[in-house]
Amino acid sequence: MIRFDGVTKTYPGTTRPALNGVSLEVLKGEFVFLVGASGSGKSSFLRLVLKEDKPTKGKIFVLGQDLGQISSGKVPYFRRSLGVVFQDFRLLPNKTVFDNVAFTLQVIGKSKGFIQEAVPDVLKLVGLGGKQNRYPHELSGGEQQRVAIARAVVNKPAILLADEPTGNLDPATSAGIMTLLSTINANGTTVLMATHDAGIVDQMKRRVIELVGGQIVRDEHQGGYQTQAVPVARSPRPTFDEVATPAPDPVEELLSPVEATETQPEPEATDAPEPAPASVPPVVKPTTSTTVIPEPGSGPPPGFVWPTAPDSLRKKS
Ligand code: ADP
Ligand code: MG
Repeated sequence: MIRFDGVTKTYPGTTRPALNGVSLEVLKGEFVFLVGASGSGKSSFLRLVLKEDKPTKGKIFVLGQDLGQISSGKVPYFRRSLGVVFQDFRLLPNKTVFDNVAFTLQVIGKSKGFIQEAVPDVLKLVGLGGKQNRYPHELSGGEQQRVAIARAVVNKPAILLADEPTGNLDPATSAGIMTLLSTINANGTTVLMATHDAGIVDQMKRRVIELVGGQIVRDEHQGGYQTQAVPVARSPRPTFDEVATPAPDPVEELLSPVEATETQPEPEATDAPEPAPASVPPVVKPTTSTTVIPEPGSGPPPGFVWPTAPDSLRKKS
């Protein structure tokens, strides 16, 4: 799904590489944390995946394509398979919640009918069903990030890249955002999240790749964030290991129309017409636990289980 082969990135005018000989592979359906101190190369890594920048040395493959072989004209099509979320939300201040999400779809030429269906669906998924006519300044930080996530996933990207998505949020709000990202991952989207929030990384128990000075020093499955290399201030964080009270589940409802498939072709970066929205990417029902989306801004519900992607998703791309 994502492969780095000996990737080094040295920015012009600098001598020390931002990334230095990085090789790794992220498989379809994984949820991967990229951790490391400020300046360790996390954002550079994500920019390379997006082809916003090119490596000085080495090769990068994303969704089966060698990024070095994608012509600049094809880059926008390639990026349609990727969703991106940032620390600072990056919403359009003069557009409503609905229009912020719809805008992405308009730019890529989706029909009005498609937009009228897809936007309310994704707003419901992120727990903002009733807020589509609000403006960003009328929302809390957590709600704004939910809008940004809705915008990133409305076109059902195969991969979601998140660069410190909880960096501006308090711990309880961050927990809600992590639940949402877990749900998106359980639906079949590969998630790669840069963070230095130790509490989140420890609780999620997912794969952790740690960078120090642009080099991978650790790649651990089910990892926590214990490290000598990066001192991290831990914020108090609620723990949620009790089983959640089953509640009406909007996610379940959204998932039901689409069948899970074992052999889903990779989206291609071509000029070919968009496939029907229901066909990409595979939507797989979480088989493990009850997923409860907390009310935006209210933090997590009294108890819930972190959802995990079914093993069937852990397939090589
Ligand atoms: P992180 O996201 O982990 O904080 P970055 O990838 O932003 O790390 O930065 C890694 C290193 O590359 C840092 O030393 C940073 O100063 C440098 N760097 C990042 N972007 C640029 C750039 N556009 N030009 C020059 N140096 C850069
Ligand atoms: Mg960064």
